[in-house]
This record gives sequence, structure tokens and C-alpha cells, in this order.
Amino acid sequence: MLLSVVIPLLNEEENIPLLYDELVEVLSTLEEGYEIIFIDDGSTDKSLQFLKEIQEKDSHIVVVSFRKNFGQTAAMAAGFDYAKGDIIITMDADLQNDPHDIPKLLEQVAAGNDVVTGWRYDRKDAFINRRLPSIIANKIISKTTGVCIHDYGCTLKAFKKEVVKNIKLYGEMHRFIPAIASGMGIDFTEVKVNHRPRRFGTSKYGISRTIRVILDLITVKFLLSYATRPIQVFGFMGVVSGGIGFLIALIMTLQRQFMGTPLADRPLLLLAVVLVFIGIQFITLGLIAELQARTYHESQNKPVYHVKDVFGAEGRSARE
Ligand code: UDP
Ligand code: MG
Repeated sequence: MLLSVVIPLLNEEENIPLLYDELVEVLSTLEEGYEIIFIDDGSTDKSLQFLKEIQEKDSHIVVVSFRKNFGQTAAMAAGFDYAKGDIIITMDADLQNDPHDIPKLLEQVAAGNDVVTGWRYDRKDAFINRRLPSIIANKIISKTTGVCIHDYGCTLKAFKKEVVKNIKLYGEMHRFIPAIASGMGIDFTEVKVNHRPRRFGTSKYGISRTIRVILDLITVKFLLSYATRPIQVFGFMGVVSGGIGFLIALIMTLQRQFMGTPLADRPLLLLAVVLVFIGIQFITLGLIAELQARTYHESQNKPVYHVKDVFGAEGRSARE
């Protein structure tokens, strides 16, 4: 068993030596072998220099250095690409996550969970601009995706290899991995973890993250529910809109034809025309999305299903 700890970081020079010491202290007591993958997300301070120094002394360390700042999600994706482990742990580099929680996560993975997420039940961040938006966001995300987790934002998570290797990450999407993975039918659980205040450096995010997270939530919801059948969303809206428009137009035509009501001063006519147009647009959009969905799945050889086990089909592979 090999463990990969994936740590994206941006300008965390003061935290790196302390984090490294704490990690080694915990990881060296484990039975599993380990590697620590630091992804330097375009730091402009001495972070990279410190990482290289550590890497030269310790062969457990891998350092991936980005050309520029691509964001925490991209950094995490790079970590997943480079990771060799059977279990992958993600965490922040700012010492807010406690490496001593790692064994607790591993226990839950050993118990059969594919994803184990940390829950910062006693979170040490400001209330108004951090914890409150987070509480609301977690409620909304849990409701929309149907995957109920108290703390989507906690980076400290453990994944079985199959989970992260099958997921492509965009935007601010790393927090949604459990929700995206739920589409594969995974088992997951939560573990209460320690959270510490930031001692060095500054937070890289402000309140504007909330908006980006909500936008990504819409994407995730769409991917989860309709990515393989987009015509059913767009087509439905198109049929409703076009149907209402057609009905209004029909009534007005009948009134004009049989009751002699003039059409000239009726704004409703405009509405009817617009609704019919929108309806047609939605349906064609749905058809284009259907084409896209096929390209998306077939070009990447992505199955529309995920198999856990197969019995009695030795030597066969569905992917050939
Ligand atoms: N981070 C990163 N790239 C970015 C922004 C942040 O790699 O563009 C890292 C950062 O160094 C830290 C983690 O992501 O290790 C979480 O960031 P931060 O502590 O600022 O977020 P907060 O805890 O305030 O939500
Ligand atoms: Mg932090």
C-alpha cells in the first residue's frame, strides 16, 4: 500500500518547514509507504526554494512547480496526475489542517469507504465572511447534489485511487469531488477533524469565492443529472416555452378570425412570438448538447457507467 499526500500551495514559505516536520512525524509511524507531492502553484516567495531543499534531502518528496498561478483546483489535479499511491490524501499547506488526522481518515478508507472527507466542526476562521457563507453553501450543495456533507470546503480528504483518476477537475471544482464521485456510486463518510487558525501568511480567498462556488455547483448539478441526456433539460424547457407561445398565438388567431379582434394593439402577440422562438432555440440547443455529450464520452472513451466488480468474465474487458 502506498499513500500519496497531495498539497497545493501558493506563497506559504513560513509554513512549509513546519508542515514538513509534522507530516513526517505522522507518516513515518504508519505501516504504509508514503510520498508527499507538493504542487507549487506559482509562488512568488521562497516556497519553491524551500521545497527543493527538502526534496534533495528526502526521497519521499515530489515537487511539481507550475509556471504561473493556475489555482488550487488545477494544482490538485496535477497532484492527482503525478500521484502513484493507492490512497490519495489532499490537504492545505497553511497548517490549518492537522496531519495528525491522517490516520483517522485512513481507518475509514480501510473500513471500505472510497472517499473520506474531513469535517472542521470547530472551524477557526472569521464568522461573517468565512464560516457563515460556508454553512449556507454546504446546505445548498448538499440539497442540490443529494450528497450530504457538512463541510465541502475542507481540503483534508482521503480518496481511493480509482476515484481521483477518473475525475477531471475544472474551475473551483476540487471541493465537489465527493459529489462528482457520487455519480460513480461511491461509498463515502465524514470524519471530524481538527482545524487551526492560520499562523503565517494570508488567506488566498475572499468572499467572492462564494459566487464562483455557486456557479460551479450549477455545472456539477448539470453534469451529475443531465450530462448524458441534455435534451431532457433543454428540450423540456423548450417544449414548455414553445407550447405556451403556440397556445397564446392560437387563441389570438381564433379571436382575430372569428371575433374580429384586431391584432395591432395587442402586446401579447409579441410575447407569443418570443416564447415560440425561445422554445425552438431551447430544443435545438438540447440537440447540440446531445451531440456534445456523445463527443464528450466517446472521444475520451468515457463509459456511461462505472463497474465495481465483474464475476465470471475472466480475460474480458468492456473497454476493448
Ligand atoms: N492555494 C493554491 N493556489 C491558489 C490559492 C490557494 O495552491 O491559487 C493553496 C494555499 O496555499 C493553501 C490552500 O490552497 O495551501 C488553501 O488556501 P487558503 O488557506 O488561502 O484558503 P482558506 O483556508 O482561507 O479557505
Ligand atoms: Mg487556509
